[in-house]
Amino acid sequence: MQTDFDWTRAQFHLPEGVTYLDGNSLGPLPRAAAGRVAQAVEAEWGEMLIGGWNRAGWMAQPDRLGDRIGRLIGAEPGHVTVGDTLSVKVYQALAAALALAPEGRRVVLSDTGNFPTDLYMAEGLLRALGRGHELVTVAPEEVEARIGDDIAVLMLTEVDYRTGRLHDMAGLTARAHAAGALTVWDLAHSAGAIEVDLAGAGADFAAGCTYKFLNGGPGAPAFVYVAPRHAERAEATLQGWLGHAAPFAFEPGYRAAPGVARMRVGTPPALQMAALEAALDVWERVDMAELRARSIALSERFLAGVEAACPQLALVSPRDPACRGSQVSFRFEEGYAAMQAAIAGGVVGDFRAPDIMRFGITPLYLSEADIDRAVAVLAEVMASGAWDRPEFRARAAVT
Ligand SMILES: *Cc1c(COP(=O)(O)O)cnc(C)c1O
Repeated sequence: MQTDFDWTRAQFHLPEGVTYLDGNSLGPLPRAAAGRVAQAVEAEWGEMLIGGWNRAGWMAQPDRLGDRIGRLIGAEPGHVTVGDTLSVKVYQALAAALALAPEGRRVVLSDTGNFPTDLYMAEGLLRALGRGHELVTVAPEEVEARIGDDIAVLMLTEVDYRTGRLHDMAGLTARAHAAGALTVWDLAHSAGAIEVDLAGAGADFAAGCTYKFLNGGPGAPAFVYVAPRHAERAEATLQGWLGHAAPFAFEPGYRAAPGVARMRVGTPPALQMAALEAALDVWERVDMAELRARSIALSERFLAGVEAACPQLALVSPRDPACRGSQVSFRFEEGYAAMQAAIAGGVVGDFRAPDIMRFGITPLYLSEADIDRAVAVLAEVMASGAWDRPEFRARAAVT
């Protein structure tokens, strides 16, 4: 497939004057989404009413969208479904993995760079299980050495949300399997950002969100993957009626639906799925290897430009692009205020405490000219000391 990045760029709406380097946090609006959502509201909800579940295909949508995402992450067809939030899907995937782990294993291993919600969900799950499990976190570079025969599940986020550091999914999965453990991979910063090969890596479970690089819109549902070899054995844990084998039989007892469909919980968000569908129409014409090559080229251009123009900013992302996802992050003590000043200048990135300025590199809608403009604005912010102005120092609730 030859990806036409001029075409993909034309598929997104970006506000006038904005250079958007925050698609790793919330992707922009696909132009077709407004019409697709309006159709779901007016022609489907408005005219079909409850008939929309069948006639508009709302009920089948989670598995259909799951398959479209599956292509982007190297999943086997029929093994991804969509719903709920990523926090919930991490909980379900970890619970299912723990239920399949060898007897007597008590450790869930993760790293200190993992996104807090993943760790919080694990903590809560282990407490609820009450079987003496322990969550152990080590520095990302120490994960491999810590994998041993006490590990039940290795639970990692492939791309670090702060630094962009990329774990070796295939290598760590093989290591975990050799030690008898299962893996749960969080693809929040991988799906739509880099090439992912879940099947090739032999991953057991994975989950991710669709509102970051996939551009599904604020609150778009998450996805979850269950490897084919576990599909008929995995426990859903959150045994909702829509993960039942026959939801409309209204049986008093739970029977799991076949395969990954058991990971569905409750009523699917039809309007959010309509927006996500429009985003996935764009992805249909994207080759992930070409996307990755362009992401690296744009990232290298940004990194070199910032390092040359902003000596105050210290790179915290790996310098080797092969060890990095699709973002570049810098450390600066006044990073929050500097980012606010950049945003006032039309360059939108974000800030992650305590001192990280984060820039998402998203080839679907960013060009070389955008990268150069972002570098120029940052250079101006740093050279002028604009970050020191009081209006940029007051913190908003969402950073
Ligand atoms: C963004 C992100 C989340 C967000 O979880 P939600 O339930 O969708 O709010 C979870 N985990 C990781 C690693 C993330 O980057």
